[in-house]
Amino acid sequence: MAKLYFYYASMNAGKSTTLLQADFNYRERGMETMLFTAAVDDRFAHGTITSRIGLEAPATPFEGTTDLAACVADRLTRGPLACVLVDEAQFLSVAQVAQLAHICDVLNVPVLAYGLRTDFQGRLFEGSARLLAIADALIEIKSVCVCGRKATMNLRVDAEGRAIAEGAQTEIGGNDRYIALCRRHFSEALGT
Ligand SMILES: [Zn+2]
Repeated sequence: MAKLYFYYASMNAGKSTTLLQADFNYRERGMETMLFTAAVDDRFAHGTITSRIGLEAPATPFEGTTDLAACVADRLTRGPLACVLVDEAQFLSVAQVAQLAHICDVLNVPVLAYGLRTDFQGRLFEGSARLLAIADALIEIKSVCVCGRKATMNLRVDAEGRAIAEGAQTEIGGNDRYIALCRRHFSEALGT
């Protein structure tokens, strides 16, 4: 039985690096993989997964209307896949997470999804909420707050480093930055 794995993290925990390392491990053994990333993420070249330490790999960009199961079924007509890897999985819709389950359960290909657990207001992303609900395995990629505790929250800050409390869940192309903090320091930074 293929399984659906959800690797969740805060910002800058190295989630893309972990994904690319897993992909490398498959390819090193001569196995084929298929990678997806969110089309919404324009920090890097469209259709590329890039990690902060310099690794990168081409990926199929997904939008809100992309049928991931159909993409994988089409790809399987050209040969077997050892694994499907999805970056920026927080941006998946509920329907797309169901497609990932279909890839596992019906197409019998394991799926490794990587995403942020919560947004800058400490709320679950749609894709992450659904993955936390139905994934076979939940794996936390840990990062550390300035105080040494585990960083679980993502503080959005402006160009001057001031905490931002309001705004759209995803700011594309803005100058906003994120700092991964523990819950206590996240709360203190927002004055809540
Ligand atoms: Zn802290």
